[in-house]
Formats: sequence, structure tokens, C-alpha cells
Amino acid sequence: MDKQGFTTGIVHGDRIAGSEHGGVRQPIHTSVQYGFERVEDLIGVFQGTKKGGFNYARQGTPTTAALERKITSLEEGVGTVCFSTGMAAITATFLTLLRAGDHLLASRYVFGNTNSLFGTLRTLGVEVTTVDACTIDEVRAAVRPNTRMVFVETIANPGTQIPDLEGIGALCREHGLAYVVDNTITSPALFKPKAVGASLVVNSLTKTIAGHGAALGGAVTDTGLFDWSAYPNIADDYRRSAAREQGLLQIRKKGLRDMGGSLSSEQAHSIALGAETLALRVKQSSDNALALAKFLEGHAAIGKVFYPGLRSHPQYEIAQKLFKGASWLLSFELLNAERMIDVVNALQLPIKATGLADTRTLIIPVAPTIFFEAGAETRKAMGISDGMLRLSAGIEDIDDLLADFAQALKLAA
Ligand SMILES: *Cc1c(COP(=O)(O)O)cnc(C)c1O
Repeated sequence: MDKQGFTTGIVHGDRIAGSEHGGVRQPIHTSVQYGFERVEDLIGVFQGTKKGGFNYARQGTPTTAALERKITSLEEGVGTVCFSTGMAAITATFLTLLRAGDHLLASRYVFGNTNSLFGTLRTLGVEVTTVDACTIDEVRAAVRPNTRMVFVETIANPGTQIPDLEGIGALCREHGLAYVVDNTITSPALFKPKAVGASLVVNSLTKTIAGHGAALGGAVTDTGLFDWSAYPNIADDYRRSAAREQGLLQIRKKGLRDMGGSLSSEQAHSIALGAETLALRVKQSSDNALALAKFLEGHAAIGKVFYPGLRSHPQYEIAQKLFKGASWLLSFELLNAERMIDVVNALQLPIKATGLADTRTLIIPVAPTIFFEAGAETRKAMGISDGMLRLSAGIEDIDDLLADFAQALKLAA
């Protein structure tokens, strides 16, 4: 069949790939062990000469493999490795591809736990520097002779900064650097990082792709654009494979087999179910976020609104050019931070919870929770004020959300 549309591919992929008894979805394979009639096949799976075989579930099952095919297709990549969480995927990527003495260049505006992981990498002898990746000159100036990798997120949480994704892609190509893009907030429904030259794409499957807040998972997808044969840190064992398979092979072998952050079949199945409605959910939640952002921007009790779909956003043009929508993530400031507790408690629909990309709208005050440990100084440097609230827009009916915010904000004066 010709190349299909995004959602058509997701909902028919399992069936077309072939499933038992005509099942329209891949079953949940719970075996840890996989046996073979002929021992030659067992040997072949171990040595990688028999493709697509399974031997031990830590390295994958038919169910996780089906999800990997789905993510590969969504990101238009050449392969994917799934993990138990988004953090496991990011950790495996760094630990398997970087060595002591290497330099990792990253955006200053990244997920808090990723930032904390940078600290761990430094204790292992990896140099990590963070820059304002919205400014290509800052990124260019920070490249060192030992730089191996550049890491950015598409839309940062909670400030919604968007890096110069195209400029960094060109810079990485020029210097032969691996370009890793965390696509969690946008997801392939809004943006495919391959379009800006990404080498590897990370998705926390927990968030936009599953969308139901009922499973944890992560994935790393190779776009096929990077020449791993020129990358110094690939072990000799993996050099025997085709150049474009080497990076992901090392991530699977070292990151999954040795480090063991494996996704279970049950969770993979649950994520695959959520993924079927990815494009529909993201359309609705992004429309909701835009309507809320416009309402909040015009409200007397609100200061800054951070949302890339607003003309006032510094990277509005980039979002318009590269993304199909500005996503479900928005943040805003209550002018009177002292009213925050009462305002948030007055909201009836948004759930007071951490977490992102649920079907239900979630709200959290940023400074006293997710950025509490960071301290006042870091918060100031990152532009996080005491009155900042982060909203993950759900798929509720927009009139209900607008009415709820209108009544709660009456307490904001
Ligand atoms: C949540 C998140 C992660 C980590 O994902 P988990 O599945 O929760 O481990 C990584 N990157 C971004 C941008 C995230 O929002």
C-alpha cells in the first residue's frame, strides 16, 4: 500500500504487519523465555544473524517490538528501542553513547530530571554545558573539539522556549555531532525532528503518545540521518552491522540488555492503545490550550502567558513554521502570587497534579513543587516567578474549561 496517513498507519499497522487469528491488535506476549526447535536459531538470535528473533524479554518481546515498529513509523525513522520510562530512554542514550572526556552540549531549558541527570554525567567524567539554545550563536560558541552530542527539547517545560531547531541541525551536520531531540511535548503528531536533521528522537511514551496517564514508557528512534560509522564511541562488536544500525544496536545491547530498563509487554500494549488516538487528542488539547492562552492573555489578573501559539511568544514564527500546533502545554503568571492557593483551589475541572499530556487538564504551581528543589536563584535564572502556574490542557469541552477559569480568577485580585 502507498504511504498512509498518520492515524491510518497507527490503527491498521498491527493487522497489516500480520497477527494471530486475525487479531486487529498485537497480543500481549508475557513469556520471558523464547524457545527454538533448532539450536542454530537460538545461536542466530544471540549473534544477531537471525533478525527479528527473541530470546529473553529484557531485550524485547513481540509486543514491545510491535510498539517499536509503530513509533518508528510515526517518526519516519529506521528503528526504535523502547524503555520502561522516558528517563530510562534518555539515560541509556547518554550512558551508551558518551564516554568520560566527551562533551555533551545541551539546552538550558530541559525537563528537571534530565537536568539532574546532567549532574550525574559530570560525576562520571562527561563534560556537560548548557546554553540558551534559542540563540544559535550561543550554541555555536559552546562547541568544543570533544563535543559529541547536542541535546534539546522541542518545547521546554514550563517556560515553552523553543530552540533554534533548524539552526542546531545544520550546526550538528557541519561538525558531525549526534543531534538528540526530545520530542515528548510535541510528539510526532505535531512535529518530526527528522525534518530538522535530528539523529535520534526521544519520546516519553508516558506523556503525549499514551495520553491516558495509565502507563509509563520511553523510546529512542534513529532517524537514519547520522553516520554512526564516523562516531568514535561504537564498540567493535557493533561495527560489524550496517553503519546506520550501529547507534541503536549499541543502545539496545548496552542500554536495554546490560542496564535493564525494559518496557513490559503489558505497558507496551497499553501505550499502543493510547497511541491510536494520538492525532485526535493532540488536536483537541492544542485547540483547548490556544483558547485558554488567549483568554488568559486578555485577563486583568494575569501577567505573562507562555504559549508558542500566541503572537507574543518569542518563537511564535518557529512554531508556526515547524509545528502542526503549539501543543497542550502552557504556563502563565498570576500577578498577585499571594492569591495562587485560593485561585487554584477554586478550579473545579483541572486536576491539581503533576504530570503532562493526560486527557484531563492538569494544573500545578511551579515554584513550590517541580522547581522547589532547584532553589530561588535557579528559578530566577530560568524565568520562573512565584506566581507561575503550569497547565497541561486536556481534551475536555473548551466552554467548560473557560467558564471554570473565569469563575476561579475572580478570586485573583
Ligand atoms: C516526562 C518527561 C520525560 C521523562 O519521561 P518519564 O516517562 O516520566 O520518565 C522526559 N522528557 C520530557 C520532556 C518529559 O516531559
